[in-house]
Amino acid sequence: MLVYIRAMKKRIEFDGPILPGSVSTARSTCGKPNCACKATPPRLHGTYYRWTGVIDGKRTTKTISRLIAAECQRRIKRFRKLQREIEQLMRKSLADAPWMPEAKGSKGRKSR
Ligand SMILES: [Zn+2]
Repeated sequence: MLVYIRAMKKRIEFDGPILPGSVSTARSTCGKPNCACKATPPRLHGTYYRWTGVIDGKRTTKTISRLIAAECQRRIKRFRKLQREIEQLMRKSLADAPWMPEAKGSKGRKSR
């Protein structure tokens, strides 16, 4: 997937799948009383990887493998970069809004 967005003389481009949400890791103890995770110092289970995000309006957590977590991270990184660029573009477009008297984009409308 290669996408170009052209707006306000700026080109936003991203290549590859994107993913919202975030990846987190956790280590934990179990229910077995004499397990190494109860020792001092404890040797916890894990590392477990989780993706957390919103699917259909619901906050969702998925347990994923280390490999899948790495791929999620790549996609999330791409998504956040795209978000930052869109936010930049939003700030620029508000500074150049049609109601701003000195807006560069309103040259044609001014002198009539
Ligand atoms: Zn344990």
